[in-house]
Amino acid sequence: MTFGRRKTRQIMVGNVPVGGGTPITVQSMTTTKTADVDGTLAQVYALAGSGADIVRITCNDVDAAQGLAEIVPRSPVPIVADIHFQYRLALAALEAGVQALRLNPGNIRKPDQIKAVATAAKERGVPIRVGVNGGSLDKDLLEKYGSAVPEALVESAQKEIRYLEEVDFTDIKISVKHSHVPSMIDSYRLLADTVDYPLHLGVTEAGPPPGGLIKSVAGIATLLQEGIGDTIRFSLTADPVEEAKAGRQLLEYLGLRERTSLDLIACPSCGRAEVDVVAVTAEAQERLEAEGLAIQVAVMGCVVNGPGEAREADIGIAAGKKRGHLFIKGQVVRVVPESEMVDALVDEARKLDEEGVEARLAAAEANAEEIAAATREQLIEIRGDANNTVARRAAVAEIAERP
Ligand code: SF4
Repeated sequence: MTFGRRKTRQIMVGNVPVGGGTPITVQSMTTTKTADVDGTLAQVYALAGSGADIVRITCNDVDAAQGLAEIVPRSPVPIVADIHFQYRLALAALEAGVQALRLNPGNIRKPDQIKAVATAAKERGVPIRVGVNGGSLDKDLLEKYGSAVPEALVESAQKEIRYLEEVDFTDIKISVKHSHVPSMIDSYRLLADTVDYPLHLGVTEAGPPPGGLIKSVAGIATLLQEGIGDTIRFSLTADPVEEAKAGRQLLEYLGLRERTSLDLIACPSCGRAEVDVVAVTAEAQERLEAEGLAIQVAVMGCVVNGPGEAREADIGIAAGKKRGHLFIKGQVVRVVPESEMVDALVDEARKLDEEGVEARLAAAEANAEEIAAATREQLIEIRGDANNTVARRAAVAEIAERP
């Protein structure tokens, strides 16, 4: 599936483009005290290593602003300073060299202050994210609308944009985050109809996984599928590395970014499974992730359906009769004892990455396909062909309908 993308302006966050049809980027935010320079930098590196293209850091006091002055030049990715309430901290963050600012319109409300920040940002070529949040909406708008409805969030963003544009500042991206997924989706849809600035997507305060992940995916993926969104953040109550990983994985699974990490597919297991699929998958995942291979790997519980169902995977393993059947692009290339199946999978994945599909198919064991076919036949004989249940259904009906 390909996604048409809404046309937006392009801005630069340091050396990372956002909008204008450039690859959708992943953001996350540090949870350390910004004044703890080494601790914050360690987290920035961890986030960058897990898929974050841009990292946001709070600038909530003078110590934090001073910390940013040391962090920014040593960061592997552009840094966005998160500003609430005190516009002077935005000016300080600019002086510290940050590559972008995030301003919350609900918390900095004086037009003169907003314009002062915009003027200073313009002088340095630094973009601003207008970061509206359903939980900290401008009080006047809350009174006007009664609650944080999409119209209120969008009006808040538009008001802030007007202040910025009045001082000729257009280096803008916008977010209208909400913790209620349908409201978040409607807010962005409404916003997308009214502006052509790039949009930063997120479900705010999504909470811990798995609920937080599900909410974020529901909101972000729905909008991406509609072509809305230029950069994304999962706001999880978890180690921020999980946010970065989830954001990156979502984009890879949607085909919006190139695969850079393992994509493990596995059958859900069923009564036909010849092995503990959950345990084998967990072990395979841990060991393959440690290898850092960007390939798609399948773990399938039985050889009856496994290799066929997972033929799109680069490599996979299917169990059957105490053996593991290793397959590449659906072709069985090796048969190993069940106790060695994960070892064999990791070993073959490494070779596949180094040598490529053709070379590994050429190195296939001569009789691997025949052994797999024989095992498949035996299992079908014992348990029946899952794809051919017509006779069984007829027999069941015949018994059930007996007088
Ligand atoms: S691959 Fe085999 S064990 Fe896994 S769900 Fe399919 S039939 Fe069941």
